[in-house]
Amino acid sequence: MSATPFWLAGRAAVGDDEIVVKHPWDGREVGRASVPTEAQVEEAVAAAYAVRKEAAALPIHVRADALAHVARRLEERKEEIARLITGENGKPLLWARGEVGRAISVFRFAAEEARRWNGTAMRLDTDPAANGRLAYVAKVPHGVVLAITPFNFPLNLTAHKVAPAIAVGAPVIVKPAPKTPLSALILGEILAETNLPAGMVSVLPVPNERAAALTADDRLPVVSFTGSGPVGYAIQDSVPRKHVVLELGGNAAAVVCGDADLDWAAKRAALFSNYQAGQSCIAVQRVYAVGDVYERFVPKLVAEVESLITGDPWDDTTQVGPLIDEDAAKRVESWVDKSGGTVLTGGKRDGASYAPTVLTDVPENAEVSCEEIFGPVLLVERVADVEEAFAKVNSSQYGLQAGVFTRSLDVAFKAQRELEVGGVIIGDVPSYRADQMPYGGVKRSGVGREGVASTMADYTYDKVMVLTGL
Ligand code: NAD
Repeated sequence: MSATPFWLAGRAAVGDDEIVVKHPWDGREVGRASVPTEAQVEEAVAAAYAVRKEAAALPIHVRADALAHVARRLEERKEEIARLITGENGKPLLWARGEVGRAISVFRFAAEEARRWNGTAMRLDTDPAANGRLAYVAKVPHGVVLAITPFNFPLNLTAHKVAPAIAVGAPVIVKPAPKTPLSALILGEILAETNLPAGMVSVLPVPNERAAALTADDRLPVVSFTGSGPVGYAIQDSVPRKHVVLELGGNAAAVVCGDADLDWAAKRAALFSNYQAGQSCIAVQRVYAVGDVYERFVPKLVAEVESLITGDPWDDTTQVGPLIDEDAAKRVESWVDKSGGTVLTGGKRDGASYAPTVLTDVPENAEVSCEEIFGPVLLVERVADVEEAFAKVNSSQYGLQAGVFTRSLDVAFKAQRELEVGGVIIGDVPSYRADQMPYGGVKRSGVGREGVASTMADYTYDKVMVLTGL
């Protein structure tokens, strides 16, 4: 199989090595990504650095048109790209199509936000000492963005870093996850069709052991990282003077209150602990059922989990496919086996696939409870009241999002006040994300916010010009 070229300053290039991409469902080769040499990485970084001022001065209509072009081309190539994602990641087509749809939205939002990207004028003569003075506050990119992305949403999480960079006029270098480089390379191909200056976008499938050369490079002052905590914090520690955004993991929880629609709650918890085989940072991992809700809720939950369609990701109806590889499934299996909990359903592995699983009575210090499982496993526990439920949610080292199934506005506001998370989803699971809303975590789930407008703000700083003698 010939290797897919990478994108070096807007042109296709090949290096002297290749990454072989294997399909998680059956292990067959689905593609190869060419790997840049050190000299080619240097060329891409130098080109991005050299173009940074031109990029920042790029007319808004050029940025917005480029972003709209990407949205259009993703739409035209939607099915092809969804199939590529299923091939490299193993997620069922259902979810892969959804991912392409979301990436299209991200580029559309960014095109709209780019057109709204104004500085602000500020009268300073609210103070007598500043009579005759006016400030103009411009939003200026910090510089070139290094975007490091994980395997679980290989297209959309790349879109979340690239589209806002273009919108604010910042060059960007993408380092995709080595297990899933192909969808980022398609994005590179589509971006190369635009009128953006050469050097503004490079997509470099660099292996992990060579990535430190990129993170340490002073010409790349922004590191936008989505991935696991150990890697993210190691990067942050290694470059303390850089602007580092960390979108990390979690063990997201949902609370099911006495006034909830239990059928809806069971359906949503079952689906969103298992979608993408649980490999989402906001997959529901823990459910706390309040009082006697537990007895009524658990049979519904188990029935919903058992009704999920598992298996071949190429089948249009499949909801749960394999994990990214057999090692990942073996890790999930070992965490469940030693959890000390009661398996209500599931608990079986077949190659890279793990059966949708519900556990109860799990000790709180079990890995499957307090670490990020990143697999199709859900814990359901009984709690006495909402107070105890919220305390359990907060007992986590993580804090990405939480879901609260309730119809009470009082409980909703209490949840927003008291839960130590970046987002509270009322009436649904924590796994809900609209791509324009601020999204990110507290505690060990990271620092900084994504969501198109939030990322644009994050990639820039306010630069003031004071006009005198007016
Ligand atoms: P990972 O940490 O293994 O890898 C993430 C990226 O970091 C990859 O591109 C990888 O190649 C790169 N990387 C690895 N070592 C590096 C190094 N030394 N220097 C620079 N880059 C390096 O994560 P993963 O397994 O690909 O993704 C799963 C994780 O991502 C989970 O923890 C999940 O919760 C998290 N995640 C978080 C969010 C969020 O928005 N908060 C979204 C999706 C995934």
